[in-house]
Amino acid sequence: MTDLPRLTVALTFDHDSISDGVRRGDSPVKLSHAEFGVRVGAPRILSLLAEREIPSTWFVPGHTLETFPDSTAAILAGGHEIGCHGWFHEDAAELGRDEEREMIERCAAAVERVTGARPKGWRAPYWSLGPASLGLVEAAGFAYDSSLMADDYRLYQVRHGDRHSVAEGSRFGREGALVEVPVSWALDDWPHFEPAPGGGRDGLSAPSKVLEIWTDELKFAHAHAPGGLLTITMHPECIGRGHRMAMLERFIDASAALDGVVFDRLDRYVERWSSRG
Ligand SMILES: [Zn+2]
Repeated sequence: MTDLPRLTVALTFDHDSISDGVRRGDSPVKLSHAEFGVRVGAPRILSLLAEREIPSTWFVPGHTLETFPDSTAAILAGGHEIGCHGWFHEDAAELGRDEEREMIERCAAAVERVTGARPKGWRAPYWSLGPASLGLVEAAGFAYDSSLMADDYRLYQVRHGDRHSVAEGSRFGREGALVEVPVSWALDDWPHFEPAPGGGRDGLSAPSKVLEIWTDELKFAHAHAPGGLLTITMHPECIGRGHRMAMLERFIDASAALDGVVFDRLDRYVERWSSRG
């Protein structure tokens, strides 16, 4: 893959804000935690990215996009990509097929209204998918999804129609046109830093621990996956806290210190990957 940089680092931000809290009827305290992402987190992140001249990708639920137009405008003014992330941050596994199709189209139309172009990227809220989800995302014209975990530093084509049963075993479907940008819980700020409602994850980790995980992934990808992509998932209400922003700065420094590492938006990397020799 001589036409791809040695390693591309994609900083991605899921700008959930209060979209799922409104749907669930969350308490004022939980809503205020989510609002922090718009009031403090996003401006702080955008300022750091501008200072370092780093392009990034933001997956924005339709509710956030329309409820906070100034935040949307600031993301676009910074030259960042906006991809889709549900309307009210729905769990796709709980939606009927028609309901899901309408939700996907509503999101795509909202992004098109603010950017002037159909969005290229879809990321499933909660990284939760129903059996029809990625077929609907492909049919809606998206170029890539970023919700699956079958690879780490390499993109791959999404398969449709896999069938698994205890009686008959596993049969794998056909590859479609949709490209997968794989993700990982280890490279997501949320499970490290935010306490899960029912417990079961650590939460409130020291940034030094998370920086060690992310930096070791960075070095491994740099050494072993030439032309690859390292995708980091963050949430403004989470990473936007001061001690975590300091960690993000250190991670950016560690990336920039390696030969041949570039930062880019997912749509641009996917386009280059798709048209590679
Ligand atoms: Zn989300």
